Amino acid sequence: MTYDSNNIFAKILRGEIPSFKIFEDDDTFAFMDIMPRADGHCLVIPKTPCRNLLDATPDQLASVMSTVQLVSRAAISAFDAHGATIQQFNEAAGGQEVFHLHFHILPRHDDIKLRPPGVMAEMEMVKSHADRIIAALS
Ligand code: 5GP
Repeated sequence: MTYDSNNIFAKILRGEIPSFKIFEDDDTFAFMDIMPRADGHCLVIPKTPCRNLLDATPDQLASVMSTVQLVSRAAISAFDAHGATIQQFNEAAGGQEVFHLHFHILPRHDDIKLRPPGVMAEMEMVKSHADRIIAALS
């Protein structure tokens, strides 16, 4: 399986399509999922290409996981959550739809189920949720 540089997250990294950025460092980028399954649902990706966990380098995984931890703590704080679910899918058979490595961060509250996938949110709401996580990061 080869990396397709025209996948949607590669386009977001190149600024060809918009996103609600919440964090960026030399190696990683974090932004809101536009079809959130929980309030504060966001994604962390490496800036360099790889399809998923299976072809990522140890350095890509290390930098991404460090950002996943940082953003998870901020998202939990921003939403007064009780925990977080971290999801990561590999290849179509594993549930992956966008073929650039990404980790989902889903703030969770006791007894509240995830919403169904594939439902577009109001962009104003996604932006306000991004702002809450950004504030918690600062
Ligand atoms: P997965 O590949 O892990 O199954 O899911 C890809 C995720 O990307 C989904 O949660 C979906 O809502 C999200 N997604 C798909 N297209 C876009 C987009 O254009 N912008 C953003 N921010 N998220 C997207």
